[in-house]
Amino acid sequence: MFDLKSIVRPNILALKPYSSARNEYSGKEAHTFLDANESPYNNPYNRYPDPLQRDLKQKISLIKKIDPTQIFVGNGSDEAIDLVFRIFCVPGQDNVVSVTPSYGMYEVSANINDVECRLVRLNDNFDICANEILNACDKHTKAIFLCSPNNPTGNLLDQTETDKILKNFNGVVIIDEAYAEFSSKSTWRSRLNEYPNLIVLNTLSKAWASAGIRLGMAFAQKDIIDLYNKVKYPYNVNVLAQKKALEILDRRQDIEDWIRLTISERTSLIYAVEELDICKKVFPTEANFFLARFTDATDIYNYLVDKGIIVRNRSRITLCDNCLRITIGSPQENTTLLSALRQYK
Ligand code: PMP
Repeated sequence: MFDLKSIVRPNILALKPYSSARNEYSGKEAHTFLDANESPYNNPYNRYPDPLQRDLKQKISLIKKIDPTQIFVGNGSDEAIDLVFRIFCVPGQDNVVSVTPSYGMYEVSANINDVECRLVRLNDNFDICANEILNACDKHTKAIFLCSPNNPTGNLLDQTETDKILKNFNGVVIIDEAYAEFSSKSTWRSRLNEYPNLIVLNTLSKAWASAGIRLGMAFAQKDIIDLYNKVKYPYNVNVLAQKKALEILDRRQDIEDWIRLTISERTSLIYAVEELDICKKVFPTEANFFLARFTDATDIYNYLVDKGIIVRNRSRITLCDNCLRITIGSPQENTTLLSALRQYK
C-alpha cells in the first residue's frame, strides 16, 4: 500500500506554510484592499496575483477534464520538477531514479538539491525495462522520473512496463508529458485515480506555443497537490503569465490547427530527411521533434550554424552517437532546413 506521508520529508510534513494576505482573505466581495502593503496606483499590476491561480485552474480543469484540486500550476515544468525534490528528498540521504537518454533537468535538479540521481540506460529501442528501473531503487529512493514522449528520442515509453513501475514502487512516479499533445496515445492523466503515486507533468511551452510565459502544470491526487501548494513560493505565477495563459487556453482551435500542421510537417520532413545520403536513420517520434543519426553529426551541426540554422547536437549523449535532434518548425523553416541539408557536402 502506497503511504504518501511515509515518503514526505519530515520537515515538510511538519511545515507551517507562509500564509499570504490573499490566502487569508477569502469571503465576501471586497473593494478596499489594505492588507498586503501594495501600492494603490498602477492598477491592476499593483496587486499581487492569486496565489492559487483559481481562474486559471478552472479553465485548465475544463480542458484537461480534471478537478482543480488535482492541478498545480508553476513557473514552467522546471518548478514542478524541482518541488519533487524539495517535498520528498532529504539532501545527502535520499535518491531518485531516471533513465538515460532523457530530459536533463531531472538530474540537474537532483544535483542542485544534493540528491543522488541514478540513471538507468534505455534499451536499443529507447524504451524502459521496469525490472531494471525497480532494481536500481533502494529504501532511500523517493521518486522515479520518466518522460513520454521522451526527449531527446521522441518515442513513447512502453505502457505495460510503466504500469509495472507504478504498481511496484513505493514512491512517486513522475511522467513528464511535455510533448503529449503531439502523440497518438492517451495521456497518463486519465489514470490518476488508479495510481496515488502518479504525478503527470504538462506545459504550455510546446503545443500551446507559450514557452515565453513560463507556465508548467502538475496533475496528481489532491494530497500530492496540497504538498506542492505548501512548499511553492506564495506568488509563484505572476499576473501577466496567468492572464496570457487564460488567453491562449481560449485559442483551442488555433492550437489544434498548429498541432495538426506540426504533425503533417513532421511526416513530410522526416520522409525528406530519410532520403538524404547523409542520414543513416530517423528514429520513430510522437513529439514535435525527431532524432536522426547522420554520417557526421557535429560537422553537419556546425555547417547549419554557419547558415544561421540551429538544431540540437545530441551526439555526445548516451545511445545518441552522431545524432541531431531537430524541432519541427513552420513549413518555411522546414524548407530552409531541408534545402541547407541538401546542399551539404
Ligand atoms: N519537460 C521536457 C521533457 C522538456 O523537453 C522540456 C523543455 N525542453 C520541459 C519539460 C520544460 O518545460 P517548461 O518550459 O514548462 O519548463
